[in-house]
Amino acid sequence: MYSKKFQKSLAAVEAAREANIALEPRRMTAQEKTDLLAAYHPDYKQDEFETLVIGPNKGDKVPKELAATLQAHSRITPESVDLSTPDYDVDVLVIGAGGAGTSAAIEAHEAGANVMIVTKLRMGDANTMMAEGGIQAADKPNDSPAIHFVDAFGGGHFAAKRELLQRLVCEAPEAIQWLSELGVEFDKTEDGTMVTTHGGGTSRKRMHAAKDYSGAEIMRTLRDEVLNRNIPVVDFTSAIELILDENGNAAGAVLMNMETKELLVAKAKTVIIATGGAGRMHYQGFPTSNHYGATADGLVLGYRAGANFFTQKLFSTILPEPLIPSRSSARWLPKRYVLSAQSL
Ligand SMILES: Cc1cc2nc3c(=O)[nH]c(=O)nc-3n(C[C@H](O)[C@H](O)[C@H](O)COP(=O)(O)OP(=O)(O)OC[C@H]3O[C@@H](n4cnc5c(N)ncnc54)[C@H](O)[C@@H]3O)c2cc1C
Repeated sequence: MYSKKFQKSLAAVEAAREANIALEPRRMTAQEKTDLLAAYHPDYKQDEFETLVIGPNKGDKVPKELAATLQAHSRITPESVDLSTPDYDVDVLVIGAGGAGTSAAIEAHEAGANVMIVTKLRMGDANTMMAEGGIQAADKPNDSPAIHFVDAFGGGHFAAKRELLQRLVCEAPEAIQWLSELGVEFDKTEDGTMVTTHGGGTSRKRMHAAKDYSGAEIMRTLRDEVLNRNIPVVDFTSAIELILDENGNAAGAVLMNMETKELLVAKAKTVIIATGGAGRMHYQGFPTSNHYGATADGLVLGYRAGANFFTQKLFSTILPEPLIPSRSSARWLPKRYVLSAQSL
């Protein structure tokens, strides 16, 4: 039974339906859009930003909530962790089991590495699972990575790092092919041709979807592949601090079991941070559709280990972001230390 309040709301929607169907909204002018963003978008409210006073980005401005986390004390003290007897010893430690982390783990495994994944919740308990619209790649005859670049660069208010965007648009078709060969059921016509549609800001139809559950379909396939390869997954466990070797390179991570709070040590030759975004930080009280794991952990882990990240650009514009690293991107991962796609 619906509550009275809900019934009133239903009646209001019913009463306005015909008029709303007939309504052709007026396009906003550029100035109206700018004013709207300035009034409501969290990235544009400069008084909600704080200047970092410590760390690699000292002097840069970030949202207040992020500044508090980046500059907080560690949860652990050096004496509370025994690094001499690691609980895990692997070639590649992947932190985070969304699309980026599982893709990286599969590729590392394919290359012969001894890989493990650690993830705060369960494998696939991630934003990737919730993506609906689809994933863009210029793989049709009337399209090209160059046109994709122009669309995405404009969509990102011309603030994207060009070499990263170039990599994204050039490798996107291969990523679609890789996912498709793994078993992702992208929408296709009867003759097997990929269906592509328009996405936000696209001048060509290049959105590849699986109905309205694209991310779930991608995650289903990646999770199956991880399981089929017997890649170990340590779930309900968070990476809470990176371990550095004597040269300052990442050499593992301190992990915390989320249920027992037990601390574990993972030693690794390579650490891949794929912890996703920061929606659940609720900057300025903003609501979010993000999953509960999206709390900027990768930014904090990396920052505390000495990595700097974009600040002004990241927080003053909305950057286009890759959904999944492409097959070939795993090959150019820096040897030791990689920040996730979102933190780039
Ligand atoms: C509702 C919704 C719809 C979307 N629709 C689209 C779309 O149509 N197209 C598109 O391109 N993008 C879309 N996006 C964005 C897209 O889903 C994300 O950009 C992408 O999935 C990010 O992938 P990821 O692997 O980097 O992060 P995630 O998928 O979020 O995975 C991160 C993983 O890291 C884990 N983790 C976090 N911190 C730690 C830690 N300290 N230790 C261990 N593990 C940790 C998390 O639990 C999670 O499993 C959408 C997002 C949402 C929320």
